[in-house]
Amino acid sequence: MFDLHDLYQDLILDHNRSPRNRRRLDAADREAEGYNPLCGDRVTIYLSIRDDVVEDVAFEGSGCAISTAAASLMTESVKGKTVDEAHRLFERFHEMVTEGAPPADDGPGLGKLEAFSGVRRFPARVKCATLAWHTLVAALGNRAELVTTE
Ligand code: ZN
Repeated sequence: MFDLHDLYQDLILDHNRSPRNRRRLDAADREAEGYNPLCGDRVTIYLSIRDDVVEDVAFEGSGCAISTAAASLMTESVKGKTVDEAHRLFERFHEMVTEGAPPADDGPGLGKLEAFSGVRRFPARVKCATLAWHTLVAALGNRAELVTTE
């Protein structure tokens, strides 16, 4: 049986307690803000892009455990990736939390991000898990307007 505890896997709890890359990035050359009105999650993503590679990425914000852990794990996952790889990772993550895990041999592996696979069973939490990613995509595209999940 699946219960709510499965949603809060140890990795998610750990990243909520000690978020990685949660700071303002003064050297950021792109940033975007996101808001999930359904839950009240807010996030700002900072990016430093050099030669089409995510040289550094950080976030600030406040929200539920899922949104904080998702932002933390997102920054770990895309740091050092090319802009194109970051987009593909977003697509696969989105696919996993909305439709289920995609086949392993189809594109980049999700690694630790698979901790969020249980989110699919909680539709209201999908927006918490994807907020940082939608905001990342806006920052990558240099779109300044506020990203909302509604
Ligand atoms: Zn939330």
